[in-house]
Amino acid sequence: MDLEKIKKAVALFLEGIGEDPGRPGLVKTPERVARMCEEIFSGLEPAPEEMLRPIEGESHDEMVLLKDIPFHSVCEHHLLPFIGKAHIAYIPEGKIVGLSDLAKALEYLAKRPQVQERLTAQLADMIMDAIRPRGAMVIIDAEHLCMNMRGIKKPGSRTVTSAVRGIFRSRATTREEMLALVGKRDL
Ligand code: ZN
Repeated sequence: MDLEKIKKAVALFLEGIGEDPGRPGLVKTPERVARMCEEIFSGLEPAPEEMLRPIEGESHDEMVLLKDIPFHSVCEHHLLPFIGKAHIAYIPEGKIVGLSDLAKALEYLAKRPQVQERLTAQLADMIMDAIRPRGAMVIIDAEHLCMNMRGIKKPGSRTVTSAVRGIFRSRATTREEMLALVGKRDL
């Protein structure tokens, strides 16, 4: 990540909106934003090798579900946050991964400019690629600040996206089981 470039861009941006980047309250803002970007866009770096590594010697063939995982990401259209919860399920074909690894994978993918639909799909695909389960399903339910602060201004409205792979796609009862477990049967 090029922090100097970010600093210059932020100073220019402040000037662009009619601010004075030299006034005391703003003078350190470009530096702060650059440091923040290192953290909130760390998902642009290559994925750590140990991400979603199967647990040796463990196998299981029933649904594994991690629900209500809080996350935040940044909408790539407006560079404003979207914040919500994710629910991740998979049905192993032998191999399983640590539950905290699923949360880490979500966090990694969320830390880049995103759209909610792609984040949902990328997470499902990452699980499919990593452990080749019988199926995976991801639901993300989030509030977009770009919808609250600007444009249509509908505070409290939520966007729900899902990505359905393998047996969750081919078997309605499996899909319904997941929806019931996360309390979204009405979707
Ligand atoms: Zn947006």
